[in-house]
Amino acid sequence: MDTHSINQINLLHPIARLDCTYAWTEVQAAMPENVIVQVGESLRSFERTDALYKLGRTVVNPDGKSAAKPMGNIVSWARAGTSWHNWGLAFDITMTTNGKEDWAIGPNWMKVVAIMKKHGWEWGGDFPKGKEDFPHFEKKYGQTLNGLMALHTAQKFIPGTNYV
Ligand SMILES: [Zn+2]
Repeated sequence: MDTHSINQINLLHPIARLDCTYAWTEVQAAMPENVIVQVGESLRSFERTDALYKLGRTVVNPDGKSAAKPMGNIVSWARAGTSWHNWGLAFDITMTTNGKEDWAIGPNWMKVVAIMKKHGWEWGGDFPKGKEDFPHFEKKYGQTLNGLMALHTAQKFIPGTNYV
């Protein structure tokens, strides 16, 4: 497996690391030779989540900025603590086909989706209409965002880690 994916998997919640390693090994083996898939971003800090939330709302996003849309595009619906990335239980993928970034939801992308779903991961492409997040995968392990936030507020970290 490539170093970037390994590093991102190692930032997942401890409960998800081995689980994701198995699934991702299967994903990479299923790709044709001209296609590279990587785990792009997994754990996201509260600070970065807030910064992304502000883009297009209270902070101008140059991407999508126009006279009709002076704040630019909104890129995130998640406030800090409300993204599964904040808890190390989500990751986004990138795909490169013939050396170029590839965001098309084609057959190879759907192969990734099928394998990850088989391993119990939910796909952002199944989110409600208008909120789909095609590169995104998450697994909840019976947790809720409120439950995780309560553990975090109570500082009930898994010993030796910053994860709850
Ligand atoms: Zn994501």
